[in-house]
Amino acid sequence: MNNFQKLGLSANIAEVLDSMGFENPTPIQQKAIPLLLSKDPTDFIGLAQTGTGKTAAFGLPLIDLIDPNLTVNQAIVMAPTRELSQQTADQLMSFSKNSPVNVEVVYGGANIVSQIKALKKPTQIVVATPGRLIDLIKRRAVKLENVEYVVLDEADEMLNMGFKEEIDEILSHTPDFRVTWLFSATMPPEIKKISNRYMNSPIEVSVNTEVKSNADITHQFVMTKTANKLPAARRFLDLHPDMRGIMFCRTKRETQEIADQLGNMGYGVEALHGDLSQAQRDAVMKRFKTRSMQLLIATDVAARGIDVNDLTHVIHHTLPDQLEAYTHRSGRTGRAGKKGISLAFINPREGRRINELEKKIKVKFERIEVPTKEELRSSRMHNWANLIVNTKVDEQSHEILTDLHTTFAHLSKEDILKRLITTQLDHLMFQDGEEDNLNETHGGNPVSRDRGQFNRYFVNLGKIDGMSKGDLLHFLSDISDVDRKYFGDITMNKNCSYFDVDKGYDKGLNLKFEGIQVEDRSIRVNRDDENTGGSRKSGKSFKKSNRKGSSGKSFRDKGRSRRRR
Ligand code: AMP
Repeated sequence: MNNFQKLGLSANIAEVLDSMGFENPTPIQQKAIPLLLSKDPTDFIGLAQTGTGKTAAFGLPLIDLIDPNLTVNQAIVMAPTRELSQQTADQLMSFSKNSPVNVEVVYGGANIVSQIKALKKPTQIVVATPGRLIDLIKRRAVKLENVEYVVLDEADEMLNMGFKEEIDEILSHTPDFRVTWLFSATMPPEIKKISNRYMNSPIEVSVNTEVKSNADITHQFVMTKTANKLPAARRFLDLHPDMRGIMFCRTKRETQEIADQLGNMGYGVEALHGDLSQAQRDAVMKRFKTRSMQLLIATDVAARGIDVNDLTHVIHHTLPDQLEAYTHRSGRTGRAGKKGISLAFINPREGRRINELEKKIKVKFERIEVPTKEELRSSRMHNWANLIVNTKVDEQSHEILTDLHTTFAHLSKEDILKRLITTQLDHLMFQDGEEDNLNETHGGNPVSRDRGQFNRYFVNLGKIDGMSKGDLLHFLSDISDVDRKYFGDITMNKNCSYFDVDKGYDKGLNLKFEGIQVEDRSIRVNRDDENTGGSRKSGKSFKKSNRKGSSGKSFRDKGRSRRRR
């Protein structure tokens, strides 16, 4: 009897696992499989992350519990993204390859007609993203009346992505006799609500939530202004031409912008986020897997489930909101016994978050410096020189050299090298006018009040708009309905400004500016650490006299800026 049969799985499945090279069950499998196979079906909550073997933890018992002679939908598995549902379905298909159980996968962004057609085959297990599942239920392509097992995979991420209503709707239409198995990396209150509402005394099992540190990952951070994060990233890319990694950003927009900017500068990078079509995402992943790019720039959600083993770097353009997500991200490197680097770019105000991470995941961060131009120059020159030294001489070169012999005859080796170097100067030197030192030593502006009391915000209004700090303060306070006394330090730059707001009074602050327009330009306010450095589409600046909202009234008039309808 092998180790999987000991947990109660069938010999049939044990054989498949053997052929897949699974020898020992992982901790979540050891805990979950016997419970899920038990004669008294039970609701179940598994707190486990991707990479812990959780798909097999529910997938293996599921395949054994399904009645292959019944040709109706018996299980639905919901996952947040197309990639994750595809990967889950792939695993389930592998596990069921020796059994007649049929698994289908359906997700948004793909042709629904062909999915409906595929579902006409007897299908016992449907893996789906919630939105598409609802569509298919409405079209009666998926029927819930015989569903005995509902699996919510990556439940926290499904809620983060706004699938709460879909999940509610689906669960409320499944039969009372069904059991629900919920897997989640974290346990936010919304998951508790789902469990209270739809689950009967679930058994909760947790593995690895206190993530053990992976000794193969070196955790590093650099401290640099938000505006310097991109140039800093370039320097690391330049210094490590062999880098192959993922850079995490917080928003889809930021992801695309950074990928575009680096791409335009000639770096091998591409964006991966939820606004891309399925075909685009597949193409990006294919290129990433075949190593035709240096860096994948991705959102946390899009990157979940990416199964690539030999990444040298994980870069955090911005730290994630939830510290747990940091371990998700950094765990993409240092896999399969290889060493990896997890490098966070933090601005001076985020310094304390490094301390929080150190405490929480029990790793030590090493502070490193953004490479200086001198280091890069030297590294580029050495790479170039090594390339020349290591180049295998082509036969044709003898012939060419004979031809050119007289041309070079009067030059010494040194003369020739100097001239060769001169031809490369553009490449070897920096002509970018960028500051040399991109490191920050400590926080930005001196403030009289306790900085910890405030959150820092960005707004795309600056000196160019003809405003004084006082004007800006009035504007911000008017639109947000937050009293002026709760605002702190304001720093005005040419195109944008930064301001502090008391943490007790800034809830939903950015939303209050949504739809506000000034001279046909949308005003954008967001937390400084989320700042994407967005472009000013209208180069037009407002004069003091015509600073007004689209309503035509002056800033100081009540309601002077209008929401776009
Ligand atoms: P998951 O956490 O479900 O995303 O699984 C991560 C990876 O581990 C997948 O590629 C699985 O095929 C693999 N895996 C899961 N369980 C085992 C096991 N017991 N032995 C070896 N590999 C496993």
